[in-house]
Amino acid sequence: MLSATEFVDQRRPAGGRRSGKRDFIVKVFLRQEGHIAADEFVDLIRGEDPRLSRATIYRTLQWMVDAGIARRVDFGNGRFRFEHAYRHPRHFHLICKTCSQSFEFLSSDIEALIEEVVAARGFAPTQSVIQIYGTCSDCREGRPAPPAEMPTDAVFARDALRIAIATERSGLEFYTKAAAITRDPRGRSVFQKLSGEEKEHLSTLEARYRKLLKRDPQLESRPTFLFFKGAANGLFSEGAERLTRGVNDQQAYLIGIRCERGSHRFFKRYGERFEDSEGKRIFLEFAEEEREHLELLIR
Ligand SMILES: [Zn+2]
Ligand SMILES: [Zn+2]
Repeated sequence: MLSATEFVDQRRPAGGRRSGKRDFIVKVFLRQEGHIAADEFVDLIRGEDPRLSRATIYRTLQWMVDAGIARRVDFGNGRFRFEHAYRHPRHFHLICKTCSQSFEFLSSDIEALIEEVVAARGFAPTQSVIQIYGTCSDCREGRPAPPAEMPTDAVFARDALRIAIATERSGLEFYTKAAAITRDPRGRSVFQKLSGEEKEHLSTLEARYRKLLKRDPQLESRPTFLFFKGAANGLFSEGAERLTRGVNDQQAYLIGIRCERGSHRFFKRYGERFEDSEGKRIFLEFAEEEREHLELLIR
């Protein structure tokens, strides 16, 4: 994974002058989790180094936005906040009008819809913003809201693992069923081999999930970040369902191929578009495993 310095260097405009002041401000900015207002940021920087002027700090914020290191988010009522893009996947916001907190989420279905619309209109998008305003569950229930800036990188990795585990489980179910109904001995042994592999991958993924939870005991209970409705989850369960309705060996192969191909494509396409992060790597590694299964089936 990229270090913070590499991340900034990749985005630094070519030929620009290096400045020690700016590097310092950027470094402090990248240490922030969540969304920070320009004024709060000025106070934070001047708390560390009072010689830095407000104008320099504002200029640096703008420089980071232009370079793609920072995102400027409009939270309504003319309130802007800044967040960095380092190991922080793109996302949409839920914004509570009562406590002013924002909550991040992402949905593959919303993204698919946006892609469909821009493709149909021949539009080249540079940014899509979705903000949902309202009242958060804590405010609705009169609970004092704890400041809940989510460690999005970890929550993203958690959700990516959950999705991969769910897909792996339904893959395992599919191949176990397929091995049981296939009459052709060669076909049966392929399905058995695949079900053995799914089992192994599943326990690797589960071990990784437990390891992630150890780093942050509250991680399990944090709200969902990634929403996937149809996506990859339904693929294998639909295939398994078709198996139980009775198919011949060849049909079982074809269903398996379709499931693996769909799953591989989904994880690869989705993973490739993310910023460098642990969640991204989970998606791409999983896509690779699904590709190996696909090749085994085709052979
Ligand atoms: Zn609230
Ligand atoms: Zn955000």
